[in-house]
Amino acid sequence: MSTFNEIRTLIEMSDVIAISGHTSPDGDAIGSCCALAMALKELGKETAVIIDEFPDVFHIIPTGGLLYHSLPEGFAPDLYIALDCGDIERLGKNKELFSQVPNTINIDHHRSNTEFGKLNYVDEDASSTSEIVFKLLYGYAPFNNDIASALYTGIIYDTGGFRHSSTTPATMAIAAELMEYDFNFSDIYNKVFFTRKIGEAKALGLAMERLETCLNGKGVYTYITLEDMKRLGVGSDDLHEITGFIKGIEGCEVSAFVYEKTPDAFKVSMRSDESFDVCKICGAFGGGGHIRAAGCTVEGNPMDIVEKVFKEAEKQL
Ligand code: AMP
Ligand code: MN
Ligand code: MN
Repeated sequence: MSTFNEIRTLIEMSDVIAISGHTSPDGDAIGSCCALAMALKELGKETAVIIDEFPDVFHIIPTGGLLYHSLPEGFAPDLYIALDCGDIERLGKNKELFSQVPNTINIDHHRSNTEFGKLNYVDEDASSTSEIVFKLLYGYAPFNNDIASALYTGIIYDTGGFRHSSTTPATMAIAAELMEYDFNFSDIYNKVFFTRKIGEAKALGLAMERLETCLNGKGVYTYITLEDMKRLGVGSDDLHEITGFIKGIEGCEVSAFVYEKTPDAFKVSMRSDESFDVCKICGAFGGGGHIRAAGCTVEGNPMDIVEKVFKEAEKQL
């Protein structure tokens, strides 16, 4: 693994820096990318964050005007930094550009990370990529309110508001340091975790109606199809709450929320506690993630997919 100093040296040697996170970006991917881009701009670099469209809620994250959904015209990066991506495929349509840029850095916290960069910094004990970016920038680049706000959003998103076991004293110390800056942390917390559209609430209701258990109550699952989404007027971005909610069912040790991404291809979003390694389960279907939060995409119908996934889980009992 590379050191922060090696990464800083490569940044110093570069002038035009592209930054992106994983496809279907979440709070950590967007927060870490925007914070890093704003900080590197302060260091005199030309930077752009290139990232897919994302859920409205994350428009609370400051971008410094550096966010693009595709490569800006005339922007020819000599360095590409991938954040919060476990493997090169997770870059989605940016994969090609990543492969063409002379220097690349991969900074991440997924245990399934394939070290696909020229320099790689992967800390699977970090709560979030935003936490790693804080450490990279600390004492190296100037912070400001916007950078602090972006990193704070990334950290609270990935820790579920400091709930997940990935939260450490270091995470809290970093959050405390960030709170010294002037941004509305209470508003961010409420928007990220407690604000939902009507359609989102209805999708949650439908998913709860379909809730099933298996493995003697240790397994909990539910599903949503494209047809459901059409009927409720929601997109897959409006379903994220379901994943965490079903893990909260009493006695649940491993959960799977299955939702249709494209006709007959379903995303499986898994969560677990000590007894199950969902990264391993999803790995069996070509996906990955963390021990307690992972995902994969599987073709078929939801019931068959659930059966396959929990058969894999059962091996860990
Ligand atoms: P999600 O269930 O989408 O919230 O994802 C949980 C974790 O698993 C996140 O850290 C993702 O980056 C990772 N993950 C989700 N889907 C995939 C996939 N298809 N391949 C690899 N990692 C994934
Ligand atoms: Mn992420
Ligand atoms: Mn993350």
